[in-house]
Amino acid sequence: MQKILISGASVAGPVLAYWLRRHGFEPTVVERAPGPRKTGGHAVDLFRPAMDIVEKMGVLAQIQARETGTEHLTVLRDGAKRPVEVDAKRVMQVLSRRHCEIMRDELAEVLIGASSGEVEYVYGDSIASLRQDEAGVDVTFERGAPRRFDLVVGADGLHSNVRRLVFGDERQFSRPIGAYLAVASIPNYLGLSDRTILVSGVDRIAGVYSARHMDDARALFLFRSARELEYHHRDVARQKQLLTEAFAGLGWEAPRLLAEAQRAQVFYFDTITQLRMDTWTRGRVTLAGDAGYSPGAAVGGSTSLAIVGAYVLAGELAAAGGDHVRGFRNCEETLREYVTSSRSLALTVAKRLIPGSPLGLWLFAQSAWLFNRVPTSWLRALARLSRSSVQMHDAFVLKDYADVGRPAAAAAAVHA
Ligand SMILES: Cc1cc2nc3c(=O)[nH]c(=O)nc-3n(C[C@H](O)[C@H](O)[C@H](O)COP(=O)(O)OP(=O)(O)OC[C@H]3O[C@@H](n4cnc5c(N)ncnc54)[C@H](O)[C@@H]3O)c2cc1C
Repeated sequence: MQKILISGASVAGPVLAYWLRRHGFEPTVVERAPGPRKTGGHAVDLFRPAMDIVEKMGVLAQIQARETGTEHLTVLRDGAKRPVEVDAKRVMQVLSRRHCEIMRDELAEVLIGASSGEVEYVYGDSIASLRQDEAGVDVTFERGAPRRFDLVVGADGLHSNVRRLVFGDERQFSRPIGAYLAVASIPNYLGLSDRTILVSGVDRIAGVYSARHMDDARALFLFRSARELEYHHRDVARQKQLLTEAFAGLGWEAPRLLAEAQRAQVFYFDTITQLRMDTWTRGRVTLAGDAGYSPGAAVGGSTSLAIVGAYVLAGELAAAGGDHVRGFRNCEETLREYVTSSRSLALTVAKRLIPGSPLGLWLFAQSAWLFNRVPTSWLRALARLSRSSVQMHDAFVLKDYADVGRPAAAAAAVHA
């Protein structure tokens, strides 16, 4: 039984912990936050392979019970008189045969619960140093006593601590896609439950959504800037000022959303960044989820990629009988094409969602109008033909690692 330390208890971390435990490893998860988050976070998407994995974990029903319930999209092109209504469920059916939208913190709660009692979760701590040798990794923590593990996995997000400690400065791998993303927790003043409202202008789109079981709402802003914006990641006042400048003059709900975002206590602002690493493994340390291969928040299906990545990592390690050199290498090979396609899709989605010209904006609004008039089967066929391969999640072939690493007798007993 190998002891494996995982940094980060959000999406990739708990999925990895669950599957490592199932394959007979001994995972420990360390999370910087003082406990499981309760604020909700933002809405994330699970597409077909991720849905299949959570089903194998036995938590599909819990996840579906917490779906945001978004069924309608109301899209207004800036300057147009009337908004266009779009069936949100159909949009997702075109992208994937199985889909669920859920708030990230609720997803994390369910995923952590899947292995509760079997996996050690340590909250309120962070790895301070890592030192590898031939046989293991010595780890010191900011608070807890030093410990030794066989392997370490960084599942600690886009600005990963493990990646910084092992691979160095994040800027070597960060590729900003030229767009910015802000999300603010605001009062649900429109009484939204099953509807997302979007107002779209050239180089910017603002929106608001809630979930059927949520008291508040989220204001969402995506925009492009001709120049690189200068701000410190802790300087929220400056970030809010940049946001206000970027959305000045946009009509309909945008001024109210901006005003609410100014008052918001929970506020996120960052450039949308892709992580590009030739390899995300060094010796006994590897990365999973956004830490290793984020295709860009909100545009690339990164939550599904994080779930699939964690599942494959655990499975390949088990299939290699715990040989980390082989397991990590096979994991990277299995994921590489999916990671590359996710990046391409993210760039396409960002281009379509934030049109860069009046013509692009008009086409965006027309496609929403046309969408309502074309049967789903046609749209799926069209999507299959598109160069950006919007159905790339469904194209990923999920291996079944159920019996790897188990003695034949035990596997037979499970099937019986
Ligand atoms: C505003 C926003 C909107 C998004 N919208 C979407 C969307 O619409 N659809 C979609 O699929 N995805 C979306 N995403 C992306 C999605 O949230 C991520 O892809 C997904 O959460 C990745 O999971 P992860 O576990 O790899 O990383 P994360 O969810 O980032 O989790 C990392 C975890 O590591 C912890 N951590 C960080 N540092 C340390 C440390 N030093 N020590 C210990 N723990 C640490 C963090 O507290 C966190 O719990 C969005 C992201 C953002 C920010």
